[in-house]
Amino acid sequence: MSNYEDKIPCTLIRGDGIGPEIVDATITILEAMKAPFAWQEQTGGLAAIESDGDPLPERTLENMRQTRLALKGPLTTPVGSGFRSVNVRLREELNLFANVRPGRSLIPDGRFNDVDVVLIRENTGGFYVGVEHFIPIGDDPHAVAEASGYLTREDCRRIAKFAFEYAIAANRRKVTVVHKANILKKLTGLFLETVTDIGKEYAGQVELEERIVDNCAMQLVINPAQFDIILTTNMFGDILSDEIAGLVGGLGLAPGANIGADAAMFEAVHGSAPDIAGQNVANPTALLLASAMMLDHCELHADGDRLRNAITTTLATPATRTRDLGGKLSTTDFTRALIDNL
Ligand code: NAD
Repeated sequence: MSNYEDKIPCTLIRGDGIGPEIVDATITILEAMKAPFAWQEQTGGLAAIESDGDPLPERTLENMRQTRLALKGPLTTPVGSGFRSVNVRLREELNLFANVRPGRSLIPDGRFNDVDVVLIRENTGGFYVGVEHFIPIGDDPHAVAEASGYLTREDCRRIAKFAFEYAIAANRRKVTVVHKANILKKLTGLFLETVTDIGKEYAGQVELEERIVDNCAMQLVINPAQFDIILTTNMFGDILSDEIAGLVGGLGLAPGANIGADAAMFEAVHGSAPDIAGQNVANPTALLLASAMMLDHCELHADGDRLRNAITTTLATPATRTRDLGGKLSTTDFTRALIDNL
């Protein structure tokens, strides 16, 4: 790996499960492009528990505060009990309030050929704040489970402004605010109310419409092309972005950016895929598309386009697809095929 002073310092976390395989593929391709990043490798997740006894060591956070830019492989979070999600902690610690998850049809023979939607998710509040407890009754310590979420008006205002400004910069015409204000009248009601207010400032520039989340989930399956930008709260955004990934060919194709005022972190939408880890079959495209977003973020738009074009060309041929997309290529063979198409 190169490391020169004139390059852009970028924190690199390989992550768990398939993380090291897809990060290796991504770095190999970025190096082949001569992308000007100086990687500063840091630990996180299960690997960091082994080395530091902490899934998010302070020196990793400190490095990210300095570079203000990170490329991250997926991190495993234990289900039910164990440590709190490192992904959620990272977003909170670095105040990465906006999660941008584009979903675009890339495979010409896929189920939908006209999906081009960007999901923007409020990344720091809602039910993800993790305020949860059990209430014991009799001899059952877990007789009742209670969870609460919170959102401030400022959180809602900040993400709404981000979404409308994003729409203008990306030449997009419509924002659909997705909520459940008929049931969660306060938590998602405040979100809807604030986005509607901010939307008035952009009237004539960006159209604003609203959908209840269950209807949005159904409409996405029936006619995804009707959506341009979807703006929603933390948990709905998490669920709907996986649904959008499914519409365009699966989790292997879905990138994500976590953006704050002071830092940005780029990753795949998918997790550490322990079921296929270490087999050299993971599809690195999601992390590659996230890297293209990182190139754009660093104002290296020509490099971002070059990478996206090579991905599109490679995926257009069934023979150069990975197993999750019905192809036969291993992660490393796909990496070589993509470099040939750069
Ligand atoms: P997952 O996204 O890891 O996997 C879901 C399914 O998609 C699996 O069958 C997997 O094999 C497949 N898949 C995912 N990525 C793929 C790829 N690049 N190529 C080919 N197939 C791919 O979801 P999960 O199994 O529910 O979660 C595993 C772990 O990842 C959990 O600990 C979870 O908390 C964590 N996770 C982390 C992040 C993150 O780091 N941002 C996001 C989601 C989940």
